[in-house]
Amino acid sequence: MQVKDLGEFGLIQRISDKFQSPDQQGFIGIGDDCSVIPKDDLNSYLVTCDTLIENIHFLTPNIEPNDLGYKSLAVNLSDIAAMGGIPEYAFLSMALPVETDTAWIDKFLDGLHDLAVREHVVLAGGDTTKSPGNIAITITVIGIIETGNIKRRTGAEPGDKLFVTGFTGDSGGGLRLLTEGHKNETDQSVTDLIRAHNRPKVYTGEGIWLGTLPAVHAMIDLSDGLASDARHIAESSRVAIRIDLDEVPVSENLQIKAGEYGWDTTELVISAGEDYSLLFAADASESEQIQAAYFEKFGESLNCIGEIREGEGVDFYRKGKKVKKPYHGFDHFKK
Ligand code: ADP
Ligand code: MG
Repeated sequence: MQVKDLGEFGLIQRISDKFQSPDQQGFIGIGDDCSVIPKDDLNSYLVTCDTLIENIHFLTPNIEPNDLGYKSLAVNLSDIAAMGGIPEYAFLSMALPVETDTAWIDKFLDGLHDLAVREHVVLAGGDTTKSPGNIAITITVIGIIETGNIKRRTGAEPGDKLFVTGFTGDSGGGLRLLTEGHKNETDQSVTDLIRAHNRPKVYTGEGIWLGTLPAVHAMIDLSDGLASDARHIAESSRVAIRIDLDEVPVSENLQIKAGEYGWDTTELVISAGEDYSLLFAADASESEQIQAAYFEKFGESLNCIGEIREGEGVDFYRKGKKVKKPYHGFDHFKK
């Protein structure tokens, strides 16, 4: 048997089966967006770690080093936001081929530095090695949160409504433009979609605010795609999720380019990953207040895209009918 037979999640399961979690009140190990380590009576540390590998996560000609530096930190900040936390410290591990241009490194660091300054994150350490092949960037972020505000993937309850911040599918559309070679820089839709992929918005403020709301029962960030990440909430919370595709917002940019190139927007919206939007389940009776307050605070609409039910699995509906075509999110080892 090979790791591709196991799949990414099978492998993580194999790891977590082998290592016992400490019997410590408030500790959360493998299985959520961040690990939780109790700090004191009131607060906990959040820890998350993500890797970007050249030719897997990015192609060097398709991303400016500045954007790559930004994105390497952004994907980690997104996991802190998904738990409702405040990011504080980052550790940067870089494996670089010896030929790497120092100007490229400087620009990479500029992008990372800009986001770290903006989000008040301190670069506290890291590791540097030579790579025999591809560039590999691993960033670990430590955040802090009032323990009572932690939002997990568990906790969604039948009757809850499901919400998503921002748009899904834009990052996937940007990736498609890059891989299909449509880099027309004078076309604003192209620039915006590529930007959504290379420089995703980070929902730190939104995550912190959602963390303070008791009505928000479970939350995750969209790294693997709506289908896959909704399934994580469904499995962790032991519930079924029904997503109404007529309610899932599709950006104007994505509609334009999908029309032009004949893309299936549904597939992009639910299967493509790396949007780093927040997906959460909240008490239905408070949904309208949450949506209104969100708009007031962040100036963007918050869309209700489905609901939590008893049962298991994630089903998609369009015009009241179940969509038959199965859509899957991203798994690193599966084809
Ligand atoms: P995310 O997409 O939110 O970053 P992942 O799918 O990468 O989350 O990871 C899911 C969970 O599995 C997390 O709790 C993470 O800490 C854990 N995990 C992933 N890879 C490993 C590993 N190699 N060893 C231990 N835990 C891991
Ligand atoms: Mg995550």
